[in-house]
Amino acid sequence: MLNTTHHDAMVVHGGRIIDPATGRDGIVDVAIADGVITKEPHRNPFVLDATGLVVCPGLMDIHVHLREPGQAHKETIETGTAAAAAGGFTFVACMPNTQPALDTPDIIRWVIGRADEVNHCTVAPVAAITQGRRGRELTDFAALMAAGAAAFSDDGTGVEDDAVMRSAFERASKLDALLIQHCEYRAISAGGVMHLGEVSRRLGLPGLDPRSEEAMIERDIDLCRRTGGRYHVAHISTAKAIELVRGAKREGLPVTAEVCTHHLVLTDEACSEGSPNTKMHPPLRPQADVEACRRGLLDGTIDCIVTDHAPHSVEEKAAGFLKAPAGIVGLETAVGIAARAMIDSELADWPQLIAWFTTGPARVLRRRAAAVDVGARADLTLIDPRSPWVVNPAEFCSKGRNTPFDGWTLTARSIATIRGRRISRLAPVVGTA
Ligand SMILES: [Zn+2]
Repeated sequence: MLNTTHHDAMVVHGGRIIDPATGRDGIVDVAIADGVITKEPHRNPFVLDATGLVVCPGLMDIHVHLREPGQAHKETIETGTAAAAAGGFTFVACMPNTQPALDTPDIIRWVIGRADEVNHCTVAPVAAITQGRRGRELTDFAALMAAGAAAFSDDGTGVEDDAVMRSAFERASKLDALLIQHCEYRAISAGGVMHLGEVSRRLGLPGLDPRSEEAMIERDIDLCRRTGGRYHVAHISTAKAIELVRGAKREGLPVTAEVCTHHLVLTDEACSEGSPNTKMHPPLRPQADVEACRRGLLDGTIDCIVTDHAPHSVEEKAAGFLKAPAGIVGLETAVGIAARAMIDSELADWPQLIAWFTTGPARVLRRRAAAVDVGARADLTLIDPRSPWVVNPAEFCSKGRNTPFDGWTLTARSIATIRGRRISRLAPVVGTA
């Protein structure tokens, strides 16, 4: 449950401020007046006790599915953005595989307007690369950008046709637009329900060949080299794929990549329990790929962590492993899962982890990350870094209950976001001083 209140003057007291944008890390009070960070607190402010908490710029997730328009039985902009706020996100970029697809300026404006109405977090829609996401005719990039599209993707499917993808790159290059590719050749992945390997063979389930991901990245990097268009690999998941991006970056190409929280902690072994909540595209991979994802973050090959929050109804997921739609929810477990992968394992520290959720995604979208700075609009996330909690999908703000982390004990959790005058707190977790 989210508890939302508004305050003209407040003080976030006693928290550890971590701001990757400025390198700041220390225990400082943050005063906010009329929604803006100020030097001195106003008189009689509302005091939010952040003792023991991490206070950082609002987290960003540049890959979520809000399902509207058209699939409100899975999620709505209201429930999806409430889930984002509950998970610590003040910004999400939502994917265009809705019904209809986000392929016209009117639909882009409608999504932004609806998000403003419910006002849980900022929503930047990603427009479709091709009309109806059918992979044939390009959409009107310039008009979609003017309407507020943050980037372009046919996510849910990749753009397979070479000539179409080449013209997308040429258009993106001319307009300085970003292309986000869901890398999957269906001719190669066809019929696969999980990673093709030892585990799929043992379970007797149709395997999904990792080449379907890698081959498309290879082609796209080549197109990027020829055209100069900016290119971002969605949900990267194999060691080979990461190596391709590493090479492209070394070459100085405008290539970036993201990794999903689940690909940092789960392997394809998880599918052996048969739960449809371990079925997603790209699928869970073997341990070596999980380790490559973690290393990719640490050496900067992967720019940011995302959730690929993909809610489905209970009925849809009840169709069983073979038939259920792919995808899991992730917004409300993201901080805990990422911390488990990177901090509990002692691979990284909080400033690094927060960078993968703030400055990293901001760099990909070429937006300014929120900053904890005097004069800036208040845009903050409060994280409790060490209070064990048990994941209970029944408590999610999302309509989706499809998580593989049901019953997991996590140590870190986002407990509040502040945007301007507005505080969204997880009730009843956070008290006030
Ligand atoms: Zn995708």
